[in-house]
Amino acid sequence: MANLNLEGITKKKLFCTGPSLLSEYIANPDPCPLPMWASHIAKPDKKSSFDLDQYKKTHKEVETFVNPIFQNMLSSAYHYEPDTKKLKCVIKGKTIFGVPDLLATTKEKIFVCDIKTGERKITEHSLQVGTYAFMALAQGIAQDIGGLYLAYGSKKENLEIIELPNIEDIWTLERQVKAEELMDLLEEENEPTPNPSENNCRYCKWSNRCNVAHKSTKKVEMFSVLKK
Ligand code: SF4
Repeated sequence: MANLNLEGITKKKLFCTGPSLLSEYIANPDPCPLPMWASHIAKPDKKSSFDLDQYKKTHKEVETFVNPIFQNMLSSAYHYEPDTKKLKCVIKGKTIFGVPDLLATTKEKIFVCDIKTGERKITEHSLQVGTYAFMALAQGIAQDIGGLYLAYGSKKENLEIIELPNIEDIWTLERQVKAEELMDLLEEENEPTPNPSENNCRYCKWSNRCNVAHKSTKKVEMFSVLKK
């Protein structure tokens, strides 16, 4: 019996994986391949626990002051309209599709900046920005990477723009191999073996359809922290 119930699911017109999901998987030392397999072919149900509209609103607000900073940093570059440049490439024939927040280019180099208003997950987010850069190069926008950036913060006062290391230090050989192995899994007609754990299942968008989702039974005494 399947572990994931895909009854009545909305199948994607174009089977593809997004840079954020791919990066989340690669950064996780012990990931579950099942949501990747499912997300490649279909969209998960909308869950009420995450306020997508509020997230988009905050993100847009932050972008209005990060974008001019990015433009000033790279004043001689051509800047694409934020959130508009659709990028696509393949890993082992599987499509990766996404739209970076901020993308600029000179004749030879591309510059990518992604805005994060929540928790800092440098490894995961660096992989995401690096993926956009690879995609831009694959589409022939430029021949080389000029700079990769992450903008962290939810308002002007706590904004920090970080310049990331070289792409080879982000997308290491080991991580490239992990991504290629994942792509082989996406090809399978049958679902891959799930890997339920508290960490993997907590925010899994497929948990409402998963028969093996980890259920936390841990009970923590509220005042126990005071006894330490
Ligand atoms: S709920 Fe857990 S086991 Fe099920 S698909 Fe998601 S991560 Fe995997």
